[in-house]
Amino acid sequence: MRKLHSGLDAWRYVITSEHEERSVASYLPLILSAAGALGVFPFMVLRFMQAEWLAAIIDTIIVLGFISLGIYVCKTHKVRVASIAVSIFCIAGVISTVYLIGPHQVYWVYPAIMAVFYLVHPRIAIALVVFIVAVLFPRLYGSIDSHEMTTILITIVVMSSFAFAFSLIANRQRDQLVQLATKDPLTGAGNRRALDEKLNEVVNSFKRTGSTTSMLLLDLDHFKKVNDAHGHAVGDQILKRITEIVNLRIRVTDSLYRIGGEEFVVVLEGQALDRAGHLAEQLRTLVEANELVPDQSVTISLGVAQLGVDESATDWLNRADEALYRAKRAGRNATNLAG
Ligand code: GH3
Ligand code: MG
Ligand code: MG
Repeated sequence: MRKLHSGLDAWRYVITSEHEERSVASYLPLILSAAGALGVFPFMVLRFMQAEWLAAIIDTIIVLGFISLGIYVCKTHKVRVASIAVSIFCIAGVISTVYLIGPHQVYWVYPAIMAVFYLVHPRIAIALVVFIVAVLFPRLYGSIDSHEMTTILITIVVMSSFAFAFSLIANRQRDQLVQLATKDPLTGAGNRRALDEKLNEVVNSFKRTGSTTSMLLLDLDHFKKVNDAHGHAVGDQILKRITEIVNLRIRVTDSLYRIGGEEFVVVLEGQALDRAGHLAEQLRTLVEANELVPDQSVTISLGVAQLGVDESATDWLNRADEALYRAKRAGRNATNLAG
């Protein structure tokens, strides 16, 4: 599964589909960029009117920087890169403003810290807050009175603690949400939604790089009879055991999904049809040899298909399904390769 880096990244993953990703996800760093540009813009105008040229130039650079980042997000939709860039830009903006314009600019540190907690992992955000304070301290020390200095430091600590706690809670809820959105609760394998996302990813990557990928479609044979003979609870245990068997055998780059009651898909990235067929046979014999219930052999049938040139995810899955159908027709406990 894709690695999530921040709350923003995770929400993008949970609340958006591949298609919606552009509209929803890109808006988040975009909003922060717009807020940054709009927040600094009045000061920029004021500085020009008052002929404070250094401050005016710094403010102009900050405004233009935020606008450039906003355009970058709009054009590229690279949300993660944009999040890191906006964080760095906020920090650099605050530090340069305080050093070059004056210590009374320190209040910009609060929105900058909030933006950073929103955009990056909370541990990295804490490190960045420590960094900002350490860099600003020499400039502030002696320039503002000790009472105000203490207030600034304490409010930064209090605000960062709240933001940190909030991020941690949000991350935990996010993990649960990702789990619910992408995992099959019985077996822990990926669900249909996760498979759809994976197939789209693989098809797009094939268009870009031509990397070979195959899939196995795996269905338990006569599972209704197994359920009837041993009960649904035993049937559930068998589904879990089969998930374990497959997970033990496949590589970390392969992924397993449960897409129907007793139907699974394994996506084998970087594997051509012959090697995928070989793995399918290994899985079939492993399941057969496992004696999942006493006095009754539990077997599986598999259809194997390699992603073809210009093939859609649906067509690819359909070809694997047709191969599975042929394996069933051939008497079950069999593997069939799609041509
Ligand atoms: P075939 O070899 O043609 O695939 O036969 P089958 O009996 O496996 O196929 P069929 O589609 O007729 O039946 C699927 C059965 O899988 C029906 C249902 O009893 C069982 N099943 C589906 N989901 C679950 C589940 O979550 N738990 C359990 N225990 N059984 C399930
Ligand atoms: Mg079946
Ligand atoms: Mg089935």
